[in-house]
Amino acid sequence: MNNPKIWLSSPHMGGNEQKFVNEAFDTNWVAPLGPNVNGLEHDLESCLGNQSQVGALSSGTAAIHLGLILLGVQAGDEVLCQSMTFSASANPILYQGAIPVFIDSETDTWNLCPIALEEAIVDRIATGKTPKAIIAVHLYGVPYQIDEIRTIADKYGIPILEDSAEALGSSYKGQKCGTFGDIGVLSFNGNKIITTSGGGAIVTRTKELKDRAVFFATQSRDDAPHYQHSEIGYNYRMSNICAGIGRGQMEVLDDHVALRRKMHAFYVDLFKDIATVTVFEAPNDDYFANYWLSSIVVEPDAVKGINREALRLAFEQANIECRPLWKPMHLQPIFEKYPYYGSTVAETLFENGLCLPSGSNLTNEERERIAGVVRRVFGL
Ligand SMILES: *Cc1c(COP(=O)(O)O)cnc(C)c1O
Repeated sequence: MNNPKIWLSSPHMGGNEQKFVNEAFDTNWVAPLGPNVNGLEHDLESCLGNQSQVGALSSGTAAIHLGLILLGVQAGDEVLCQSMTFSASANPILYQGAIPVFIDSETDTWNLCPIALEEAIVDRIATGKTPKAIIAVHLYGVPYQIDEIRTIADKYGIPILEDSAEALGSSYKGQKCGTFGDIGVLSFNGNKIITTSGGGAIVTRTKELKDRAVFFATQSRDDAPHYQHSEIGYNYRMSNICAGIGRGQMEVLDDHVALRRKMHAFYVDLFKDIATVTVFEAPNDDYFANYWLSSIVVEPDAVKGINREALRLAFEQANIECRPLWKPMHLQPIFEKYPYYGSTVAETLFENGLCLPSGSNLTNEERERIAGVVRRVFGL
């Protein structure tokens, strides 16, 4: 196996990241605050628009945790959460001692099913508890059914925590993802559309709420000359070094979104004559997806014996990284005891779905290797 590994999604520097990091060293701002932190927040606010307020944090997971705290989620409360997602969407519910209630996906965007969501809300209210928040995810950068989910949230007065960790650069009807929730969440982990090596951000609708998030993220220090604390604090702020990487990355965000979308178009073309494979696409022109990861569903072909697993193993053999879709949370050992509403949409997607190499830095040669595996497996 001499072929170098092709990664699912690897960091892709634009060029100016080191300049911002060097500036941090030159001015000795080597701390979880400084000009790069403020600069990155400003860049994100301009990018998102809609009067967004952004607080840079140590991770997207930290942003979800603080988002739940800002929405008043406490021990024993119930939180509705999309089941088909990365575990980081749901873990902070347990950090708060709250109870996750998982919801199935619909087939158009693979995100929260509005019907299952409303069924869950009605049922939970009937048992005496109105859920405290809805965690909605834009999976693989495809926006969830924004209007339908908002209508239900407003009907029952439940706030939305928008997990936009995979959707920086995506939009719906021209409005940027990250700005639809009562609170939004971004991630800059190493494999995301842009990276700060590790990091995230919380997006709020008011300056007061952003300040409150930053207060919690810096150990909840009261205004006093000594260290005085009236509330539980966290060490969740982003470092000025990481933020420097982020400022360089923001300069190339649009280019990288275009390159990810080009990868997606490559897969649409590659699989166009293969009847048993469907490339996951946004349902219509209202949805603009960054296609953070390009994904497919492989209908098992009993005659030829080709299914998702056969294709995955063929890629693995060729030293090409690919992954099944996120395993739904209601099927995870840690979460299976919690309530679940819906049917088997997420479960079926998990069984037959595959994420393919999607990085903005893939070369023609690498695309040719990927195409070679597909042609071989499907006998083209
Ligand atoms: C990556 C991711 C997160 C967590 O972000 P981190 O920065 O890795 O903590 C949360 N939700 C989803 C859907 C993600 O993909």
